[in-house]
Amino acid sequence: MEPNFRRCVSCRVVAHKNQLLRVVKEHSTGKLEVDRGMGRSAYLCWSFDCIHQAQKKKRLERALRSPVSPDLYQVLEKNVRERLGVLNPR
Ligand SMILES: [Zn+2]
Repeated sequence: MEPNFRRCVSCRVVAHKNQLLRVVKEHSTGKLEVDRGMGRSAYLCWSFDCIHQAQKKKRLERALRSPVSPDLYQVLEKNVRERLGVLNPR
């Protein structure tokens, strides 16, 4: 894979990492963060579908080797909502 390209854990599409949502298992604390921190990362499209699939099929758990709380999925969905709001201003 080209440098800086990553694969969505749900639909397996490959995109530049700037165009994917990043979930990070913070190296020092083991806490999961969205789009910040250093550590093992998993990537998702900016898409409710991919978030829902990830949750249903436990893709993030597997990729990050860590339990993922429902709160994290809500944070991801909020990020997508905000981004869609930015891209489609009323
Ligand atoms: Zn995807």
